[in-house]
Amino acid sequence: MGRQCSTTQRKPRNLKRVHQVRLSPRNNTQQPRRKSPFSHELSSKLTQPQNRFFDEGSDIRNYTYAKFGRAILAQPSGIAFQIWDSKGIPWLRDEEYRDEIVEKIHGSSIEELAEKCATKGLENPNAFVETVREYNEAVYQHRNESPGLTWDPAIKDGLSTQSSKRALVIPKSNWALPLDEGPFGAVKVGCGVTFTFGGLSVDPETAGVISLSGRVIPGVFCAGEMVGGLFYENYPGGSGLTSGAVFGRKAGRNAAAMVGEKVDDRSRL
Ligand SMILES: Cc1cc2nc3c(=O)[nH]c(=O)nc-3n(C[C@H](O)[C@H](O)[C@H](O)COP(=O)(O)OP(=O)(O)OC[C@H]3O[C@@H](n4cnc5c(N)ncnc54)[C@H](O)[C@@H]3O)c2cc1C
Repeated sequence: MGRQCSTTQRKPRNLKRVHQVRLSPRNNTQQPRRKSPFSHELSSKLTQPQNRFFDEGSDIRNYTYAKFGRAILAQPSGIAFQIWDSKGIPWLRDEEYRDEIVEKIHGSSIEELAEKCATKGLENPNAFVETVREYNEAVYQHRNESPGLTWDPAIKDGLSTQSSKRALVIPKSNWALPLDEGPFGAVKVGCGVTFTFGGLSVDPETAGVISLSGRVIPGVFCAGEMVGGLFYENYPGGSGLTSGAVFGRKAGRNAAAMVGEKVDDRSRL
C-alpha cells in the first residue's frame, strides 16, 4: 500500500486527481461498475471531431478504465465515440450496453455510421471514415507480419497496429481487430467523476488518522472512501473495496483494542 503522506503535503495535488470514468449520455450511468472486462479495449475510440486519442489496447480494462475517462475529458469536446464492427459487438455485455442503458448508433457501413454519428455531435464524418481506414490498414499490415498471433481477450495478445512498414501515431497495442465487417455500432460517451483521490491521511499500520502536525490522533480511525493518498495518476479497478477491507480491518481491530484496554483499566479500579 505504501505509506501515506500527510494531508498538508497531499492536498493540492490530490484535489486535482479524481477517478473519472466513461459515461453514456443517455442516463449518466457510471458504466464501469457493470462493465465487460473487454468491451472498451476491443473498440476503437474516436474523438470529436475524428481521431483516435488513446491506446485502447494498452492494458487490461482494470488498468485503463479510469484513464479512459480522463482522456475523454481532455478532448476539446469532452466526448468520444466508441465503435465496433460485427466481430466486437457480441462481446458487449447486456448489462452495460443494452438499449435502455446506452443509446446505440447503428450503420451498415462505416460511412453510414459516420453520418449517423454526425447527427449526435461528430464534427467531421469524412475524417472519421479516414481514421478507420488508416487503422484497418495498420491492423492488416501487422497481421501480415505476425501470422502466428491470434486474438485472445484473456491475455495481452500482441495484436497491434504497429508493424515495421506501418505504425500509427497512437497505437493500439493489443486486441487490434480490423473494423471491417458490418453491421457497425457506436456509442457516444463522455466522462464522469466517480470519486476524488483525496482524503484523510492514515497510519498504514493502524488506520489511525494523521493530523496536520503529522501525528496520529488517538482514538480516531479512518477506512474506506475517506482515506486519501492511495492513488494519483491511475486507479486499478477493485481497489476501492480492497482498500476498504484492508483499512477497515485495521481500524476495527485497533479501535476494539483501544476500547478493550479502557475496559481492562476500569475493571482494575
Ligand atoms: C460509481 C462507483 C463505482 C464503483 N465501482 C467500484 C468497483 O467496481 N470496485 C471497487 O472496489 N470499488 C468501486 N467503487 C468504490 C467503492 O464503491 C467505494 O470505495 C466504497 O463503496 C466506499 O465504502 P465506504 O463505506 O467507505 O463509503 P460509502 O459506501 O460511500 O458509505 C458511506 C455511507 O455514509 C453515509 N453518510 C454520509 N454522511 C453521513 C452522515 N453525516 N451521517 C450518516 N451517514 C452518512 C452515506 O450515505 C453512505 O451510506 C465505486 C464507486 C462508485 C461511486
